Amino acid sequence: MSILVVGSVAYDDIITPFASRQRALGGSAIYFSLAAQHFTPISMVAVIGDDFKQSDMRLLESHRIDTTGLIRESGPCFYWKGEYLGNWNDRITHATHLNVFEHFNPVIPHDYRKAEIVFLGNIAPELQNKVLDQVEHPRIVALDTMNYWISHAKEALIETLRRVNILIVNDSEARLLSGEQSIIEAARTIRAMGPTILCIKRGEHGALLWYDDQVFVAPAYPMCEVVDPTGAGDSFAGGFLGYLARQKLDIHALRRAVVHGSVMGSFTVESFSVDRLAAIGTDDVNKRYQAFVDMTHFDR
Ligand code: AMP
Repeated sequence: MSILVVGSVAYDDIITPFASRQRALGGSAIYFSLAAQHFTPISMVAVIGDDFKQSDMRLLESHRIDTTGLIRESGPCFYWKGEYLGNWNDRITHATHLNVFEHFNPVIPHDYRKAEIVFLGNIAPELQNKVLDQVEHPRIVALDTMNYWISHAKEALIETLRRVNILIVNDSEARLLSGEQSIIEAARTIRAMGPTILCIKRGEHGALLWYDDQVFVAPAYPMCEVVDPTGAGDSFAGGFLGYLARQKLDIHALRRAVVHGSVMGSFTVESFSVDRLAAIGTDDVNKRYQAFVDMTHFDR
């Protein structure tokens, strides 16, 4: 069962306290897809500029990612420049250039319209809404967003959230969206906006999930060396939804999905860009998942 993903395809400039990288392949659709393809095939819809490299196209195609829905426009790809401060959790956005994204009108290829699972990656909420207008009867619609869109397009985002079952955001985004400081209050307010399933990521502190009247708390995988956290959130979403694609939607599967999300995020932070994420195999994923199970198991 394939997942339809719509999101950004970017070249990022990244500065960390220890190193920097320019024009690193990134964007929400890229990280999500490379993580989720470990579990299920992916159909990607996004706009790319005329500077999108042939080698990057080959990278996607060699990872079970159907690129029929990639539209090439003249102009540069989406560009983002971010800098991480010493604690890895705080980052400064120095630049967001929408470039070809500015006039992007997502047209979902006919074959993709019957998708049962849709991931609305981090792009303008108006575009996320337009995508939903074209999909026939999705069983699961998950959405990710970020501070930029919560600040710049909150009304459109709230409208889109009414049509979404799963929202995946980080704690600062949850606070900004809800206007609440307490994460518990924020979760209550956000779930009243539409999504019945809410996952709030807390970086190195793990993730929380709400479903019905249940809450699940998962730690993050303890990492020795973080190289670049960019894309960890989108990779988390890829592991989470990719895993769910083949499961019956219940609290047990959702708990395992959160841990698969943490596993995929943990690989992404081990290198710049998608270097590590694109190099791992299913064995690596399974081993790290098992390590999580072993680390978090305890008796009553
Ligand atoms: P994450 O670290 O998971 O939040 O995602 C980082 C990725 O999001 C980077 O590769 C950026 O290219 C991309 N990104 C940053 N800002 C935006 C935005 N406003 N809209 C869409 N994608 C963005």
